[in-house]
Amino acid sequence: MRIDTDEGVHGWGETPAIPTWGGSQMRYGGESPETVLALVRDYLFEAIRGLDPREPRIVHRAMDRVAKGAPYAKAAIDIACYDIAGKSLGVPVHTLLGGKCRDGVRITHSLGLMPIADALEEAQSAVAEGITVFKLKTGIDGERDVELMRQMRAVVGDDVELRVDANEGYPTIAEAVRITLRQQEYGLLLCEQPVSGAHGLAEVARRIGVPVMADESAWTVHDILELHQRGAAECFSCYVTKPGGLWRARQQAEFAAAMGLYHDVGGSIEFGIGTAANLHLGVAAEAAILPSVCPVTTVQGAQGPRIAGVYYLDDLITEPFTFRDGILLCPDGPGLGIEVDQDKLDKYSDESVPV
Ligand SMILES: [Mg+2]
Repeated sequence: MRIDTDEGVHGWGETPAIPTWGGSQMRYGGESPETVLALVRDYLFEAIRGLDPREPRIVHRAMDRVAKGAPYAKAAIDIACYDIAGKSLGVPVHTLLGGKCRDGVRITHSLGLMPIADALEEAQSAVAEGITVFKLKTGIDGERDVELMRQMRAVVGDDVELRVDANEGYPTIAEAVRITLRQQEYGLLLCEQPVSGAHGLAEVARRIGVPVMADESAWTVHDILELHQRGAAECFSCYVTKPGGLWRARQQAEFAAAMGLYHDVGGSIEFGIGTAANLHLGVAAEAAILPSVCPVTTVQGAQGPRIAGVYYLDDLITEPFTFRDGILLCPDGPGLGIEVDQDKLDKYSDESVPV
């Protein structure tokens, strides 16, 4: 998404809306590219017309007045406003978020639900290119999940960190506990969302020996309060998009830190615009101490890793972010610090969608 101002500054936003991605127990519904487009075009743009993009509180209040929820639609606008604000003030977005605590985000390479042999091969290539942490997607077959951990540890050695994410996949609390206790024998950094809901997470957390991370159960500040009160998770996955943009993601991160929770910066494998927003949050949030699944942006023809953190063959931005020693560095230019390639945008746009 591109927003233009009457002062000649423009900003970019991105939101990877997925209909099947929502909160635990249907608490937050999925959005799609079509619902985002309709909301932005028919309600949100009209609500924010004439407002100052450097005042995110005012922008969010106007959007909340015309549409409840819809965090992914609002995130696209929010990110574009931060890009404009940074450009017009001559500072990077992380300055607007309070200043940076670190220069970049340590990258977790995500291994999907693939055959074990394929996961091992991909992991070895990623380690050779600098990856120090893996997320193993699990939750479909418990025995496979244990065997995957065992073989992965044997292949990558003890210096690489392994985390698992079952995406609420285990059918019972008992099953989640039984599998995780066996996995943790092979050195487990954390166990992400093994079951649905804060109550289930709390039960699992009491019975295993590694931290539980909440993802589907952590969308808002109020979710963080519930997790804290129940002792359901000691860490969570903080997205730019789930709370509705950088303004609320920063609120969520600050509130969680005050409650003693820590987090990574999660997402849905964004392209370069969304990844830039994630990086600015990741360097500015003090409790964002966990390695994160941010794509190592690949621009066709540019230098960079071929496997490590790579999920796309090309991107919409002109310059990839620097990936060094397993860390993706946050750009320091004004706004998001990126340039969008208009030719690529035209090339990859779906012309059947009316804008
Ligand atoms: Mg997750």
